[in-house]
Amino acid sequence: MKRTKLVCAALAAVLLLSSCSHLKLVIRYAGSKAAELTEGHPAPPAASAPSPDAPVPSPEETPNVDAAIEGADESLGGEDIPLISDLSVAGGISAPPEPKEEDSLAVYAHYKPEFQERYRRFLRSYPDMTETTALALVNVNADYGYYKGITQIQDPDGLLVFCNKNYQLPAGFAPENLRAISGYELLMTDEAATAFEDMRAAVKKDLGKQLIAISAYRSFSYQKALFARYARADGIEVADTYSARAGHSEHQTGLTIDLLHTWPKNGSLRNANFQDTEQYAWMLDHAHEYGFILRYPETEESVTGYRFEPWHWRYIGADDASKMHEEGIATFEEYIGTYYRLEGTAIAEAG
Ligand SMILES: [Zn+2]
Repeated sequence: MKRTKLVCAALAAVLLLSSCSHLKLVIRYAGSKAAELTEGHPAPPAASAPSPDAPVPSPEETPNVDAAIEGADESLGGEDIPLISDLSVAGGISAPPEPKEEDSLAVYAHYKPEFQERYRRFLRSYPDMTETTALALVNVNADYGYYKGITQIQDPDGLLVFCNKNYQLPAGFAPENLRAISGYELLMTDEAATAFEDMRAAVKKDLGKQLIAISAYRSFSYQKALFARYARADGIEVADTYSARAGHSEHQTGLTIDLLHTWPKNGSLRNANFQDTEQYAWMLDHAHEYGFILRYPETEESVTGYRFEPWHWRYIGADDASKMHEEGIATFEEYIGTYYRLEGTAIAEAG
């Protein structure tokens, strides 16, 4: 199977013609890494098109907690990179294949020998990308293309739960410790809610200004309906640039919050231009101290698969958020791929 995929990928990268999913891998990084390929990037909605990018869910969504997931990880080696989950299984550990030849990439701590060919292919496609970034992104299956090679997340309750277009939350998953944010009916996990409340108080103290919560926890079923509505309005391809498919939304983790300085007119978060406010500037400097990261930065659309969302902040805890901030790592994808190992159950092939 692997060999077939490699051939497919090589053809796609060279030809840039077919609709093979690996073409999307090329497209995906075109925006920031290879400007000449931008024609492949999903076009943002035209200014006149409907832009329903303001999910304002009703807060009365009831979490479905009857399917708590017991996951298990298989450690693949003795490297320094910790598993993202603290769950581990005795036995069932298989040694990674030996590199076919001495690989200069092996000097990196996050190098995985079993990904040697994928790293090389990725670097050939993106020669301007640094080796360490390429390794990190391949480590999180970013070379598969959006919604290809999907892995089911095994530690959905973890603070570092990694949810994107390649990693899916279980349908029945809801965090167990959700609570309403003070002053709202919106839900977050207790820890994330407290962190938000502290950050909101700090903004008030420093700036004398408000942070308004627009959306927080959303259930799988709510997200499913939301995406379906957007896809009907704008088509799936466009909807994919601003909304997540069910199971792929960070809002299902209870660790994510959409914030603005004001209640959005017509429900449009984008039109509120939060990025032009003092609150946003403050958050770029200080949100990490409270454990929050900007999940979909302006220049990283090609990595995250989402248009810039100045309002969407993800709680990962102050230690990791601060480390990411200090090292200037722009995306959670690169951060996780550099410092953690992701294990999960593949539920879709990468081809
Ligand atoms: Zn959001």
